[in-house]
Amino acid sequence: TAYGLKGHDLIEKIADFDALIVRSATKVTREVIEAAKNLKVIGRAGVGLDNIDLEAARERGIEVVNTPGATAISVAELTIGMMIACARNVVRGTLGIKSSLWEKKALKGIELFGKRAGIIGLGRIGREVAKRLKCLGMEVVYYDPLVSESDIARPLELDELLRTSDFITLHLPLTEKTRHMIGEREFEMMKEGVILVNCARGGIVDEEALYHALKSGKVRAAGLDVFEVEPLNRSKLIELNNVVLTPHIGAQTVEGQKRAGIEIARKVLEALKGR
Ligand code: NAD
Repeated sequence: TAYGLKGHDLIEKIADFDALIVRSATKVTREVIEAAKNLKVIGRAGVGLDNIDLEAARERGIEVVNTPGATAISVAELTIGMMIACARNVVRGTLGIKSSLWEKKALKGIELFGKRAGIIGLGRIGREVAKRLKCLGMEVVYYDPLVSESDIARPLELDELLRTSDFITLHLPLTEKTRHMIGEREFEMMKEGVILVNCARGGIVDEEALYHALKSGKVRAAGLDVFEVEPLNRSKLIELNNVVLTPHIGAQTVEGQKRAGIEIARKVLEALKGR
């Protein structure tokens, strides 16, 4: 067993190993995979497989396993936190107090209760979000081309969801089809003062269009855990005071990481035994 291998170190040592387990930081490139003469399985403790060259793994017959469900509750809880932080100016209030401002009057928020929440992507995380929003007294609608009906939320066409939701939260993958799916046209359709949360993947939202929508007040506030380029750096979004920004921490909880760690160890062992 070896831990914490990266870059050249990983390429040098990987030849002897039957299994490789990574989270998101280690890049399993074609070079790594070609150097891995004995490798039978790659385990990713988490969801996204963007850090693994799947094509190279497939060519070598290396199985790739992940733990898609392990952190769904963690991401769903962050999403709810983002919605409330946006609706109630939690970050602006904190920053104000830190600079000796008591902005009580300026920080009048809105309630979630009785509002319409539009969920785009009703998969593992979207469903956990829907359940929680219902408990807060929201009307929950969703758009998902692969989920025609659901017992927790009502399906709507995308444009109608965009036009009528008070809160919109994204829980779909980033693909060629979904890149910039939320852009200038979509912001124009939205309700004045909508709150947008993206804890899915950067790139689904066109950040330039979002910046203008936030600046004009069309979007009241946005909660963003993911960005087109990470780490987020020198972005105009940082200048705005109606954003809540977190460094891709959706799955970063004690419980979520423990669940993902145990599940990936089990799946990797199963994959090795299966051979
Ligand atoms: P999932 O596969 O269970 O669900 C995704 C859903 O999106 C599916 O039901 C699918 O039909 C739907 N979908 C696909 N294309 C769509 C489209 N064009 N419009 C609407 N819906 C569409 O995935 P999940 O585990 O729920 O993860 C959802 C997202 O959250 C993914 O992008 C994932 O990478 C991301 N994620 C983020 C973090 C984080 O740290 N912030 C952690 C885990 C997952």
